[in-house]
Amino acid sequence: MPTYVRTDKCDGCKGEDKTECMHICPHDLMQLDIEGTATGHAMKSYNREPEQCWECYACVKACPQDAIECRSYADITPLGGSVQPLRGSDRIVWTIEFRNGNTKRFKFPIRTTAEGSIDPYAGTPEPVEDELGDHSTLFTKGTHACDFSQFKAS
Ligand code: SF4
Ligand code: SF4
Repeated sequence: MPTYVRTDKCDGCKGEDKTECMHICPHDLMQLDIEGTATGHAMKSYNREPEQCWECYACVKACPQDAIECRSYADITPLGGSVQPLRGSDRIVWTIEFRNGNTKRFKFPIRTTAEGSIDPYAGTPEPVEDELGDHSTLFTKGTHACDFSQFKAS
């Protein structure tokens, strides 16, 4: 489901140099149409290449106006249907609208630690340079590796 911008909600991030959606998009797809020459809507953002969209939803979650929505391709869901995440301070709510009109919402907690405070290598051993070529001591084989034995059928 690629994204599209609701022009009735987008405020162009109040004219900042780089909007939230432009800042976050890993594929550089979001564009602020300053003069409205591309879309007819001045100071509104738009996804300039929906077919290139990774559908990562980063822009959807980052938009402070909840102005970015996702919709499926018409050949896959010809009667509609949509998925909409709404990020809060400690949770994210996904609203699923089915093409028969049913709506379901799913709520999940999200991390509440300060941005940038996670140390992904905390508690892991320092690398030993002489062992870097030894595949028997791969980083993911340490004590922090996943214990797959718990998934074995009994
Ligand atoms: Fe508009 Fe949202 Fe993009 Fe800001 S982040 S320009 S409000 S779509
Ligand atoms: Fe960019 Fe991801 Fe948004 Fe697509 S869903 S426009 S790839 S941030």
